[in-house]
Amino acid sequence: MAQEDVFKKIVSHCKEYGFVFPSSDIYDGLGAVYDYGQNGVELKNNIKQYWWKSMVLLHENIVGIDAAIFMHPTTWKASGHVDAFNDPLIDNRDSKKRYRADVLIEDQIAKYDEKIDKEVAKARKRFKEQFDEAQYRATSPRVLELAAQREALHERYSKAMNAGDLGELRQIILDEEIVCPISGTRNWTEVRQFNLMFSTEVGSTAEGASKIYLRPETAQGIFVNYLNVQKTGRMKLPFGIAQIGKAFRNEIVARQFIFRMREFEQMEMQYFVKPGTELDWFARWKETRMKWHQALGFGAENYRFHDHEKLAHYANAASDIEFHMPFGFKEVEGIHSRTNFDLSQHAKYSGKKIEYFDPETNESYTPYVIETSIGVDRMFLSVMCHSYEEEQLEGGDTRVVLHLPAALAPVKLAVMPLVKKDGLPEKAEEIIRNLRFHFNCKYDEKDSIGKRYRRQDAIGTPFCVTVDHDTLKDNCVTLRYRDSMKQERVPIDSLQAIIEDQVSITSLLKKLL
Ligand code: ATP
Repeated sequence: MAQEDVFKKIVSHCKEYGFVFPSSDIYDGLGAVYDYGQNGVELKNNIKQYWWKSMVLLHENIVGIDAAIFMHPTTWKASGHVDAFNDPLIDNRDSKKRYRADVLIEDQIAKYDEKIDKEVAKARKRFKEQFDEAQYRATSPRVLELAAQREALHERYSKAMNAGDLGELRQIILDEEIVCPISGTRNWTEVRQFNLMFSTEVGSTAEGASKIYLRPETAQGIFVNYLNVQKTGRMKLPFGIAQIGKAFRNEIVARQFIFRMREFEQMEMQYFVKPGTELDWFARWKETRMKWHQALGFGAENYRFHDHEKLAHYANAASDIEFHMPFGFKEVEGIHSRTNFDLSQHAKYSGKKIEYFDPETNESYTPYVIETSIGVDRMFLSVMCHSYEEEQLEGGDTRVVLHLPAALAPVKLAVMPLVKKDGLPEKAEEIIRNLRFHFNCKYDEKDSIGKRYRRQDAIGTPFCVTVDHDTLKDNCVTLRYRDSMKQERVPIDSLQAIIEDQVSITSLLKKLL
C-alpha cells in the first residue's frame, strides 16, 4: 500500500477509535485544530508522563514549572518574536491558495533528492549483486548533474533565507518553475512576511486594553522565571527547568493532520550552564534525548539527527531529531544551544539583573542555555504511525492492531466475561475492582469474544483476560497477548504481577539509566 494511503488510514483510525477528532466537528471542523478523544487523551497523558518523569524524576537538578499562556507583551519584544517570528508567504493568483515560500523551495530540493534516489534504484536493479552504491553516486554523470543542481539551489536558498531576501525567494520559485499543486500555474504574487503569533486584547475598555499574545513557545515562561526558580530552589549550575504546555502559531500551511497545528502542546526543558561548557552539554543532551526516543523500541533506523546549517543569530548549535513518518523523515524534537541570548534580552528589556553568582569562582555571569523542545502532538503522531498495522493472519483473515508500547497504551487490560450470565460478569467486575488502582482496566461484555479482541487490538490494549465458567471453580482466567495473540491460563492472583511491571512508565524509565 502506498505510504499516503497508510497515512489516510491512520487518520481515520484515530477518529473511529476515539483518539483524535477534528475540533468543533459538528461544525465541520476548524483548520489545523484537533481534539483528543477518550483514548487519545490517555495516550497523550502517558507520553507526557514519560517525558516529565524522565526529566524531573531522573534528574536531581531538573525541576518543573507551569507558567501562564499569557505573558507581559514586552516578553515577545525581548525574545524577538514580535519582529522576527515570521514565515515568508506567497499566493497563487489562480487557485487563491497561500503557501510558505520556504516550504515550496524545500520541497523542490527534496525532489532533486528523490530523482537521485530513483537513478540509484534503477542502477541497483540493472547491476544486481555487483552494484556499488557509493561508487555509482560518485561517478554517474546523471547523478552528479542532479547533485550539482541540488547543491546550487540549496546554496542560493540558504543565502536568501539568511539575508531575509524575499525578492530572491520569489525569483528562485520562478527560476525553478515551481507550479501551484492546485492550479498548476506559475502565477505567483510577491513574497511577504507573515507573523505567526496570535494576538488578543486584555482589559475591559477599548482605551484601557492592551494587545497581548498567545505564547508561540513555552520557553519564554521558563526564561522569565529563571531567577524565581534559581533563588527559591537554591539551584546550582548546571540545572534545568522543565515545562509542558500549550503553544499557538498561526501556521500558514496547516498540513498532515496533527503534525502542524495552530494550537499544540510542547514539552520543553531549558538547561542553564556555565558559559564555555554549552557545546559539551549540547552533545550530551542530544544523546540523552535520542535514548529517550529509542527506548520506545521503534528501531534505531527510524530516527536520525538533522544538524542545522542555518543557525538563528543567537544559537551556536542546533539539531533536530527526525522520525520516519509515512511522509518521510520529519522533525519531532529540536535541541538548541541558545547561548545567553534570551536571558540577556530579558535583562535588557526588564532592567533587572539576570545572572548567576558562581560560588566556586566568585564571579557573576549570565548562564548559557541548552534547550530540548519536543511537540507532544508530533510525538503522538509518530507513536501512532509506527504502531498501526493491518496484519495478515493465517487463514486469510486480517486485523488492525496498534502495537503501542504497553506503557503508553490507553487501556492496559480488558476484562471480558465469556457470557453475560451465570455470575461471570460479577467475577469480571471483581477482577477490575482489585486491579484498577494499579493500571487502567476496562470491562467489555458486548459481542463475541473474537470481536472484543479485535476492538481491543484496534486501540492497542496489550492484555485481555476472559472469565469463563471454569474461572468460578479454579480462579483462573485466559490471558491473551495483543501482539502474539497467544493465550494462557493464569491464576487471577498472578495478574497484577504479570501485567503491572510491563505497563508502567517505570519500565520505560529503567531503560534510560
Ligand atoms: P517546523 O520547522 O516544523 O515549523 P520548528 O522548528 O518551528 O518546527 P520549534 O520552534 O523548534 O519548531 O518547536 C519545537 C517543537 O515543537 C517541534 O520540534 C515540534 O515537535 C513542535 N511544533 C512546532 N510547531 C508545531 C506545530 N505547528 N504543530 C505541532 N507541533 C509543533
